[in-house]
Amino acid sequence: MELNEVWVLAEQKNGIIQTVSYELLNRARSLADKLNVSLAAVLMGYDIPADEVQELIYRGADKVYLIEHEVLKDFLVEPYSSVLCYMIDTYNPQIVIAGATSTGRTVLPHVAMRKRAGLTADCTILDIEEGTGNLLQTRPAIGGNILATIKTPEARPQMATVRPHSMKPAPRDTGRTGEIIKPVLPDGCLVSRVKKLDFIEDESQGISLQQADVVVAGGRGVGKAENFKYIEELAKVLGGAVGASRDVVDRGWITYPHQVGLSGKTVTPKLYMAIGISGAIQHIAGMQTSETIVAINKDPDAQIFKLADFGIVGDAMDILPVLIEKLKQC
Ligand code: FAD
Repeated sequence: MELNEVWVLAEQKNGIIQTVSYELLNRARSLADKLNVSLAAVLMGYDIPADEVQELIYRGADKVYLIEHEVLKDFLVEPYSSVLCYMIDTYNPQIVIAGATSTGRTVLPHVAMRKRAGLTADCTILDIEEGTGNLLQTRPAIGGNILATIKTPEARPQMATVRPHSMKPAPRDTGRTGEIIKPVLPDGCLVSRVKKLDFIEDESQGISLQQADVVVAGGRGVGKAENFKYIEELAKVLGGAVGASRDVVDRGWITYPHQVGLSGKTVTPKLYMAIGISGAIQHIAGMQTSETIVAINKDPDAQIFKLADFGIVGDAMDILPVLIEKLKQC
């Protein structure tokens, strides 16, 4: 069967499309254009509002394969994997990408194993090799010290998970039109031995780092654990979340979920404040797509200033209390 289409596994929660789906569509649009094939989103769920499905078309999908069933309401690996395998057998896409989220990271290895296909996890760059049409899948390797580009010339479909926030969501174009296809599934696809009993939100971390519009992050230059209260206060005044470099997480000044960077979280806030952070490549990997970056550092030659839109050279402990007071008066 002829290979066609580039696929994006769209994610929804309670019927609402998750932003990572639009990021994937942005990335996959250029792949589909280079291969001169259609771009399709595969969306599984139950009772998904029509305007949410339509949004995938506005964000770049030429087609949406919509598979709705009670069993698919929330993510469960067994039926999601079975449906995706059936869809691949039926429509033969050449590329399937998903977010490197808990859903994508769980379901794509299942599918890759069942289809005997390759899978590159946690990619930050995807491209098409000229001449062969192979998917070039680039991801950090060897502790983040190199970027490795991987291709799977024999395997079809070519599959990859992509780091959330490593690309901006596709722009919205309400003039776009597309097709919504509702495949009929064979018996057996929708069986799950696992049942979701309840969902308990983790509220222990305050504002979610990856959803926040403002992230105030502290590094070793903050000096000591007690000084982190200034980072927390500034974040509070700005209505943002608290981030940190790995160095301070390793020192136990703040917990691991706050770590930004290669081995932590990737963030794309409107404002990222890097305070007492040198700007090591592994830290930058997690925040370089922020819209505006402000750095406070006492070393005028610190690497972070090369990336920053605004910089203050000085001692963070002199600057932070004044800045917090001024902002409180605004
Ligand atoms: P430093 O590099 O020590 O920088 C401290 C900065 O504070 C300096 O620029 C200094 O000028 C400034 N400063 C000092 N005193 C003051 C003051 N009073 N006022 C203002 N500025 C001051 N790092 C991450 O952050 N995230 C990751 O996910 C991550 N993953 C990694 C993965 C691997 C495999 C490896 C090898 C490393 C990783 N790292 C990561 C570590 C990274 O290489 C750096 O060591 C780390 O980011 C440094 O943290 P820092 O900027 O807080 O500290």
